[in-house]
Amino acid sequence: MKAATLGTMPIPSRIAELHADMIAWRHRIHAHPELAFEERRTADFVAARLADFGVSVHRGLAGTGIVGTLRCGSSARSIALRADLDALPIHEKTGVAHASARAGIMHACGHDGHTAMLLGAARCLSESRSFDGTVHFVFQPAEENECGGQAMVEAGLFDLFPAAAVYGMHNWPGVAVGAFALRAGPIMAADDKFEITLASRGAHAAMPHLGDDPIVAAGALIGAVQTVASRIVDPQEAVVVSITQLAAGNTWNVIPEEVVLRGTCRYFAPGLRPVLESALRRIVAGVASAYGVRADFAYRKPIPPAVNAEAPTVAAARAAALVVGEANVLRDLPPSLGCEDFAFMLAQRPGCYVWIGNGPIADGRSLHSARYDFNDDVLPLGASYWCALVESVLAGPRTPAS
Ligand SMILES: [Zn+2]
Ligand SMILES: [Zn+2]
Repeated sequence: MKAATLGTMPIPSRIAELHADMIAWRHRIHAHPELAFEERRTADFVAARLADFGVSVHRGLAGTGIVGTLRCGSSARSIALRADLDALPIHEKTGVAHASARAGIMHACGHDGHTAMLLGAARCLSESRSFDGTVHFVFQPAEENECGGQAMVEAGLFDLFPAAAVYGMHNWPGVAVGAFALRAGPIMAADDKFEITLASRGAHAAMPHLGDDPIVAAGALIGAVQTVASRIVDPQEAVVVSITQLAAGNTWNVIPEEVVLRGTCRYFAPGLRPVLESALRRIVAGVASAYGVRADFAYRKPIPPAVNAEAPTVAAARAAALVVGEANVLRDLPPSLGCEDFAFMLAQRPGCYVWIGNGPIADGRSLHSARYDFNDDVLPLGASYWCALVESVLAGPRTPAS
């Protein structure tokens, strides 16, 4: 780490001192994971730490969401930094000492680490007060599946805390510890979850001519939806349409009355949603008509692509380079067709979402694996990045430490 001179003590030195604290915070959060919108204990812990650091705390935004605010100097400039609080419904198999104490729930996406890093930065910045402006530390609930980021935006996140830009960070297994990866433009994909219901009169399995068969219709539909990516969208656009759930029937000799199919569309270009949606509707209606069944089509909690703006990406890259050196800031990693509900914040404010290297993927221990664990070596790098970003974006006359 480059020893920048920040506050009364170089930030990297202070962050190094805080490493043991950040490990302890992360292990505590990891041992007591909570699912989307149930992060009460985690939120209590975060709010108590922020208050200890002298950061003003706003609780209950979108249920368990928290925003800590730290002001310094006289500038009206402001930024928001975001971490996520929730865990996943996975039974942990890491065997580590700090493993989940709750059966069937674990921090398998590293949100424990994200929270610990942002707490470390909040503490360091509250001590150094080496910026001029306002920093909002956003701890969002329910990143996994339940769109807690969207809920915070809809609850008035940027009205109550009017940040000019918003930044996010996620650990990325497969990228080395000591490296960051980022890019301007889309970095993660849209996730347009859809549900199709095919309904019919059903029939005896031996007398299908006396009813209608939604299973045969579903079979035709599964193949037909692949033409959305292969024949409707420009082949130079990345698009995936996946049917991921199929529910129908409960015995051998009855043609059921209903088939439910669920799936997801993934893509990067924000303008593709209406194109894909209308194509899917048309195909569903056409196949249903051809097979004589009724069809219903609905989107569920669609998430837009996460799109990084140019200027914040330059600022993020500069901050990352201050921490790990220019050579370790990767700009050519392809975007991911995974999704991220930080996209809702990026849709409201210019910003940048970066990946911080979590080290090699060993034995399949990647995100959402029962054997994944956030890498504690990453904690000081992430906290230093947050501090460097704040001091770069909100650079100003040095304010004496309090
Ligand atoms: Zn995840
Ligand atoms: Zn995650």
